[in-house]
Amino acid sequence: MKSVIIGAGVAGITAAKTIKEIDRDAEVVVIGDEMFLPYKRYLLTELLCGLLTQDDLIFLSLELLHKLDIKLRMGESVKSIEPSKKLITLHHNEIIPYDKLLIATGCIPSLGLILRPYKSYIQHYYSLNDILVLKNRLPEIKKCIVFGKGVSCLDLISGLYNLEKQITYITKGKRAHFGLKESEFKDKLHDFLEEKGIDIVTEDRIVSIDTSKHGYRVDTLRQKKLTADIIFGWDHYTHPIFHVSRIHQSKKD
Ligand SMILES: Cc1cc2nc3c(=O)[nH]c(=O)nc-3n(C[C@H](O)[C@H](O)[C@H](O)COP(=O)(O)OP(=O)(O)OC[C@H]3O[C@@H](n4cnc5c(N)ncnc54)[C@H](O)[C@@H]3O)c2cc1C
Repeated sequence: MKSVIIGAGVAGITAAKTIKEIDRDAEVVVIGDEMFLPYKRYLLTELLCGLLTQDDLIFLSLELLHKLDIKLRMGESVKSIEPSKKLITLHHNEIIPYDKLLIATGCIPSLGLILRPYKSYIQHYYSLNDILVLKNRLPEIKKCIVFGKGVSCLDLISGLYNLEKQITYITKGKRAHFGLKESEFKDKLHDFLEEKGIDIVTEDRIVSIDTSKHGYRVDTLRQKKLTADIIFGWDHYTHPIFHVSRIHQSKKD
């Protein structure tokens, strides 16, 4: 039985380990499009802040992968799935057959229609590669603008705060809450961040970004004019698997 897993994040690798625990003879292939060994994404900010090293983030070493007999195809992207024939095609057109397929491609932060034209001005905050690039830029960064949702946005703000950067957070909501639903802390978060010196712009959003020799100039819907050395943000999360085409058998086949 050959199991193929698309996505070498925590979910994909945990599934691979579990399959091998249940059936030692199973053939397990994990295909991941990042160029790194599987790592703990939730610790990226600790790496950015210099609290952990890149090695500390590794989720499963090459040695362990080998010992568990899990085949990892790093830096390979799946471009199409043909469920009726149980085949997947990689970016370089290699075709891989499977008996069972698991899709563990997670979610990626994405921009909506208004900000998409400015995407080259907006720093990603999702992958190990993003953090390694960002670490090199840190010394030249003082003022940051952040917009976005979720725990990773809050994590980013706490990282920038620890790095003593000046932060403006822009939210469409009446208060900063980062979508934390269950946490007791969620109602206190806005005031807590303001007490820490974070400038929170509420009920507003970025509508355009321009460059100047000093960095970026940002216009908001409520006609605020802001400047920054770097802009981080995303409007929503999308499932990367939607970019993988599904090829279905035609009636003739
Ligand atoms: C900075 C940061 C801090 C976070 N902090 C926390 C936290 O404190 N607590 C918490 O619960 N969560 C946190 N998260 C979220 C957490 O990291 C994610 O929920 C978790 O990584 C999801 O794991 P996953 O394996 O499902 O997906 P991912 O980690 O997103 O892995 C999916 C993998 O699939 C790959 N992939 C996508 N498409 C393809 C394709 N076509 N072919 C091959 N590979 C593909 C992707 O490149 C990626 O490597 C944080 C996230 C970030 C970015």
